[in-house]
Amino acid sequence: MTHHLSERPDAAHLSPLVDIRRVRKSYGSHQVLRDISLQVPRATVTVLLGPSGSGKSTLLRCVNHLESIDGGRIIVDGDLIGYRQSGQVIHEMTPKQIAKQRQSIGMVFQRFNLFPHMTALENVVEAPVGVARRPKSASRKRALELLERVGLSDFAKHYPAQLSGGQQQRVAIARALAMEPKLMLFDEPTSALDPELVGDVLDVMKELARDGMTMIVVTHEIGFARGVADQVVFMDGGVVVESGSPEEVIGNPQRQRTRSFIDSVT
Ligand code: ADP
Ligand code: MG
Repeated sequence: MTHHLSERPDAAHLSPLVDIRRVRKSYGSHQVLRDISLQVPRATVTVLLGPSGSGKSTLLRCVNHLESIDGGRIIVDGDLIGYRQSGQVIHEMTPKQIAKQRQSIGMVFQRFNLFPHMTALENVVEAPVGVARRPKSASRKRALELLERVGLSDFAKHYPAQLSGGQQQRVAIARALAMEPKLMLFDEPTSALDPELVGDVLDVMKELARDGMTMIVVTHEIGFARGVADQVVFMDGGVVVESGSPEEVIGNPQRQRTRSFIDSVT
Protein backbone atom coordinates (compact mmCIF):
# COMPACT_ATOMS: atom_id res chain seq x y z
CA MET A 1 0.00 0.00 0.00
CA THR A 2 1.35 3.43 -0.86
CA HIS A 3 0.75 6.60 1.06
CA HIS A 4 0.80 10.09 -0.25
CA LEU A 5 3.86 11.84 1.18
CA SER A 6 1.84 14.34 3.21
CA GLU A 7 -0.05 11.52 4.94
CA ARG A 8 3.03 9.96 6.36
CA PRO A 9 3.65 10.76 10.00
CA ASP A 10 7.22 11.81 9.28
CA ALA A 11 6.25 14.12 6.42
CA ALA A 12 7.19 17.20 8.46
CA HIS A 13 10.76 15.99 8.57
CA LEU A 14 10.94 15.76 4.81
CA SER A 15 10.00 19.39 4.27
CA PRO A 16 12.81 21.93 4.29
CA LEU A 17 13.52 23.41 7.71
CA VAL A 18 13.65 26.87 6.17
CA ASP A 19 11.51 27.75 3.18
CA ILE A 20 11.95 31.26 1.81
CA ARG A 21 9.71 32.26 -1.10
CA ARG A 22 9.81 35.46 -3.10
CA VAL A 23 10.93 37.57 -0.17
CA ARG A 24 11.23 41.31 -0.65
CA LYS A 25 12.58 43.89 1.77
CA SER A 26 13.26 47.60 1.38
CA TYR A 27 14.77 50.28 3.56
CA GLY A 28 12.93 53.38 2.41
CA SER A 29 13.23 53.43 -1.36
CA HIS A 30 16.24 51.10 -1.34
CA GLN A 31 15.15 47.58 -2.23
CA VAL A 32 17.64 45.35 -0.47
CA LEU A 33 16.00 41.96 -1.10
CA ARG A 34 14.30 41.85 -4.49
CA ASP A 35 12.87 38.40 -4.86
CA ILE A 36 14.66 35.80 -2.79
CA SER A 37 13.64 32.16 -2.81
CA LEU A 38 15.68 29.58 -0.99
CA GLN A 39 15.08 26.25 0.71
CA VAL A 40 17.28 24.83 3.44
CA PRO A 41 16.74 21.09 3.99
CA ARG A 42 17.06 19.74 7.51
CA ALA A 43 20.52 18.76 8.73
CA THR A 44 22.23 20.55 5.86
CA VAL A 45 24.57 23.51 5.54
CA THR A 46 23.80 26.40 3.19
CA VAL A 47 26.60 28.87 2.55
CA LEU A 48 25.58 32.34 1.39
CA LEU A 49 28.18 34.09 -0.71
CA GLY A 50 28.03 37.57 -2.17
CA PRO A 51 29.68 40.95 -2.27
CA SER A 52 29.23 43.46 0.50
CA GLY A 53 25.79 45.07 0.34
CA SER A 54 24.14 42.21 -1.54
CA GLY A 55 21.62 41.62 1.24
CA LYS A 56 23.06 38.56 3.02
CA SER A 57 22.83 39.95 6.55
CA THR A 58 19.38 41.34 5.89
CA LEU A 59 18.19 37.93 4.76
CA LEU A 60 19.51 36.27 7.93
CA ARG A 61 17.92 39.01 10.01
CA CYS A 62 14.55 38.38 8.33
CA VAL A 63 14.80 34.64 9.10
CA ASN A 64 15.54 35.49 12.73
CA HIS A 65 12.75 38.09 13.06
CA LEU A 66 15.17 40.95 13.55
CA GLU A 67 13.58 42.50 10.46
CA SER A 68 10.11 42.24 8.98
CA ILE A 69 9.61 41.43 5.31
CA ASP A 70 7.67 43.50 2.76
CA GLY A 71 6.67 40.64 0.48
CA GLY A 72 6.76 36.88 0.12
CA ARG A 73 6.92 34.41 2.96
CA ILE A 74 9.35 32.64 5.24
CA ILE A 75 8.57 29.33 6.90
CA VAL A 76 10.80 27.88 9.61
CA ASP A 77 9.99 24.32 10.68
CA GLY A 78 6.44 24.58 9.42
CA ASP A 79 5.73 27.88 11.17
CA LEU A 80 4.92 30.73 8.86
CA ILE A 81 6.98 33.72 9.97
CA GLY A 82 5.41 36.27 7.71
CA TYR A 83 3.42 36.35 4.50
CA ARG A 84 2.65 39.46 2.55
CA GLN A 85 1.24 40.02 -0.90
CA SER A 86 1.05 43.37 -2.65
CA GLY A 87 1.91 45.02 0.64
CA GLN A 88 -1.03 43.33 2.39
CA VAL A 89 -0.33 41.32 5.49
CA ILE A 90 -1.66 37.82 4.84
CA HIS A 91 -0.15 36.33 7.95
CA GLU A 92 1.90 37.55 10.82
CA MET A 93 3.06 35.75 13.95
CA THR A 94 2.06 37.11 17.32
CA PRO A 95 4.88 38.63 19.43
CA LYS A 96 4.64 35.58 21.68
CA GLN A 97 5.07 33.17 18.77
CA ILE A 98 7.97 35.26 17.52
CA ALA A 99 9.71 35.18 20.89
CA LYS A 100 9.28 31.41 21.06
CA GLN A 101 10.62 30.86 17.59
CA ARG A 102 13.57 33.18 18.07
CA GLN A 103 14.62 31.01 20.98
CA SER A 104 14.87 28.08 18.59
CA ILE A 105 17.15 29.94 16.18
CA GLY A 106 20.76 30.55 17.23
CA MET A 107 22.68 33.41 15.68
CA VAL A 108 26.39 34.15 15.67
CA PHE A 109 27.59 37.51 14.42
CA GLN A 110 30.87 38.85 13.11
CA ARG A 111 31.41 40.63 16.41
CA PHE A 112 31.21 38.26 19.31
CA ASN A 113 28.72 40.28 21.38
CA LEU A 114 29.57 38.51 24.63
CA PHE A 115 28.56 40.18 27.88
CA PRO A 116 31.89 41.67 28.99
CA HIS A 117 31.11 41.54 32.72
CA MET A 118 30.30 37.81 32.65
CA THR A 119 32.65 34.84 32.48
CA ALA A 120 32.50 32.45 29.54
CA LEU A 121 30.37 30.09 31.62
CA GLU A 122 28.02 32.85 32.74
CA ASN A 123 27.62 34.00 29.15
CA VAL A 124 26.55 30.49 28.11
CA VAL A 125 24.21 30.03 31.07
CA GLU A 126 22.57 33.46 30.71
CA ALA A 127 19.85 32.71 28.14
CA PRO A 128 18.73 29.26 29.36
CA VAL A 129 18.36 30.54 32.92
CA GLY A 130 17.54 34.23 32.37
CA VAL A 131 15.30 33.89 29.32
CA ALA A 132 14.03 30.32 29.18
CA ARG A 133 13.84 29.97 32.99
CA ARG A 134 15.53 26.59 32.97
CA PRO A 135 16.93 25.20 36.24
CA LYS A 136 20.31 26.67 37.16
CA SER A 137 22.32 23.57 37.99
CA ALA A 138 21.26 21.62 34.90
CA SER A 139 21.93 24.67 32.70
CA ARG A 140 25.37 25.06 34.24
CA LYS A 141 26.19 21.42 33.60
CA ARG A 142 25.01 21.72 30.02
CA ALA A 143 27.00 24.95 29.56
CA LEU A 144 30.18 23.21 30.71
CA GLU A 145 29.53 20.43 28.20
CA LEU A 146 29.10 23.01 25.46
CA LEU A 147 32.31 24.81 26.43
CA GLU A 148 34.05 21.47 26.23
CA ARG A 149 32.53 20.86 22.83
CA VAL A 150 34.00 24.12 21.50
CA GLY A 151 37.37 23.29 23.08
CA LEU A 152 37.19 25.75 25.98
CA SER A 153 36.73 23.64 29.13
CA ASP A 154 39.74 25.34 30.69
CA PHE A 155 38.37 28.82 30.08
CA ALA A 156 34.97 28.66 31.79
CA LYS A 157 35.97 31.23 34.41
CA HIS A 158 37.67 33.61 31.98
CA TYR A 159 36.13 36.94 31.06
CA PRO A 160 35.82 37.88 27.36
CA ALA A 161 38.71 40.37 27.66
CA GLN A 162 40.94 37.47 28.77
CA LEU A 163 40.11 35.44 25.66
CA SER A 164 41.33 35.69 22.08
CA GLY A 165 38.86 36.66 19.38
CA GLY A 166 38.63 33.06 18.25
CA GLN A 167 37.96 31.86 21.78
CA GLN A 168 35.32 34.54 22.23
CA GLN A 169 33.63 33.47 19.03
CA ARG A 170 33.60 29.87 20.20
CA VAL A 171 31.97 30.99 23.46
CA ALA A 172 29.40 32.83 21.33
CA ILE A 173 28.70 29.57 19.47
CA ALA A 174 28.35 27.67 22.75
CA ARG A 175 26.03 30.39 24.00
CA ALA A 176 23.81 30.06 20.93
CA LEU A 177 23.77 26.27 21.28
CA ALA A 178 22.70 26.51 24.92
CA MET A 179 19.14 27.23 23.82
CA GLU A 180 19.08 23.95 21.85
CA PRO A 181 18.34 25.68 18.56
CA LYS A 182 17.00 23.81 15.56
CA LEU A 183 18.67 26.27 13.22
CA MET A 184 21.97 28.14 13.46
CA LEU A 185 22.64 31.33 11.51
CA PHE A 186 26.23 32.54 11.15
CA ASP A 187 26.93 36.01 9.78
CA GLU A 188 30.60 36.22 8.77
CA PRO A 189 31.67 34.54 12.02
CA THR A 190 35.39 34.62 11.19
CA SER A 191 35.68 37.95 9.37
CA ALA A 192 36.83 39.90 12.43
CA LEU A 193 39.41 37.31 13.49
CA ASP A 194 43.15 37.24 13.03
CA PRO A 195 43.91 34.66 10.32
CA GLU A 196 45.54 32.20 12.72
CA LEU A 197 42.35 32.05 14.82
CA VAL A 198 39.94 31.35 11.96
CA GLY A 199 40.64 27.62 11.74
CA ASP A 200 39.52 26.76 15.28
CA VAL A 201 36.18 28.49 14.77
CA LEU A 202 35.62 26.82 11.40
CA ASP A 203 36.49 23.46 12.98
CA VAL A 204 33.76 23.93 15.59
CA MET A 205 31.30 24.80 12.83
CA LYS A 206 32.36 21.76 10.81
CA GLU A 207 31.75 19.52 13.78
CA LEU A 208 28.33 21.06 14.34
CA ALA A 209 27.49 20.35 10.72
CA ARG A 210 28.68 16.78 11.07
CA ASP A 211 26.42 16.38 14.10
CA GLY A 212 23.45 17.27 11.92
CA MET A 213 22.79 20.90 12.81
CA THR A 214 20.93 22.84 10.12
CA MET A 215 23.01 25.91 9.34
CA ILE A 216 22.96 28.99 7.14
CA VAL A 217 26.43 30.49 6.99
CA VAL A 218 27.45 33.80 5.45
CA THR A 219 31.17 33.58 4.88
CA HIS A 220 33.94 34.37 2.43
CA GLU A 221 35.80 31.23 3.50
CA ILE A 222 35.64 29.40 0.21
CA GLY A 223 37.47 26.38 1.61
CA PHE A 224 34.77 25.96 4.24
CA ALA A 225 32.08 26.31 1.59
CA ARG A 226 33.72 23.70 -0.62
CA GLY A 227 34.27 21.24 2.19
CA VAL A 228 31.17 21.64 4.33
CA ALA A 229 28.30 23.20 2.34
CA ASP A 230 25.56 21.05 0.91
CA GLN A 231 24.29 24.09 -0.95
CA VAL A 232 26.00 27.30 -2.00
CA VAL A 233 23.93 30.36 -2.81
CA PHE A 234 25.49 33.36 -4.53
CA MET A 235 23.62 36.61 -3.97
CA ASP A 236 24.17 39.96 -5.62
CA GLY A 237 22.01 43.07 -5.60
CA GLY A 238 19.27 41.47 -3.53
CA VAL A 239 18.70 38.46 -5.78
CA VAL A 240 19.96 34.90 -5.87
CA VAL A 241 22.19 34.88 -8.92
CA GLU A 242 23.11 31.22 -8.75
CA SER A 243 22.75 28.29 -6.38
CA GLY A 244 23.72 24.65 -6.29
CA SER A 245 26.35 22.32 -4.94
CA PRO A 246 29.82 23.70 -4.12
CA GLU A 247 31.13 21.90 -7.19
CA GLU A 248 28.61 23.77 -9.33
CA VAL A 249 28.65 27.26 -7.87
CA ILE A 250 32.30 27.48 -6.82
CA GLY A 251 33.88 24.93 -9.12
CA ASN A 252 31.98 25.76 -12.27
CA PRO A 253 29.98 28.99 -11.94
CA GLN A 254 27.60 29.65 -14.81
CA ARG A 255 27.19 33.38 -14.42
CA GLN A 256 29.82 36.02 -15.01
CA ARG A 257 28.95 37.81 -11.76
CA THR A 258 29.48 34.61 -9.78
CA ARG A 259 32.73 33.88 -11.56
CA SER A 260 34.26 37.26 -10.87
CA PHE A 261 33.21 37.11 -7.22
CA ILE A 262 34.72 33.63 -6.76
CA ASP A 263 37.90 34.83 -8.45
CA SER A 264 38.07 37.81 -6.09
CA VAL A 265 37.90 35.71 -2.92
CA THR A 266 40.10 32.77 -3.92
P1 ADP B 1 25.52 42.24 3.15
O1 ADP B 1 25.34 41.56 4.45
O2 ADP B 1 25.39 41.34 1.97
O3 ADP B 1 26.79 43.05 3.09
P2 ADP B 1 23.34 43.88 4.06
O4 ADP B 1 22.15 42.98 4.14
O5 ADP B 1 24.03 44.22 5.30
O6 ADP B 1 24.33 43.28 2.97
O7 ADP B 1 22.93 45.24 3.38
C1 ADP B 1 22.29 45.31 2.14
C2 ADP B 1 21.97 46.77 1.83
O8 ADP B 1 21.01 47.23 2.76
C3 ADP B 1 23.18 47.69 1.98
O9 ADP B 1 23.12 48.63 0.93
C4 ADP B 1 22.96 48.35 3.31
O10 ADP B 1 23.51 49.62 3.32
C5 ADP B 1 21.45 48.39 3.42
N1 ADP B 1 20.98 48.30 4.81
C6 ADP B 1 21.22 47.28 5.67
N2 ADP B 1 20.62 47.50 6.86
C7 ADP B 1 20.01 48.70 6.76
C8 ADP B 1 19.19 49.49 7.66
N3 ADP B 1 18.91 49.07 8.90
N4 ADP B 1 18.73 50.66 7.18
C9 ADP B 1 19.00 51.08 5.93
N5 ADP B 1 19.74 50.38 5.04
C10 ADP B 1 20.23 49.22 5.44
MG1 MG C 1 26.63 41.40 6.08
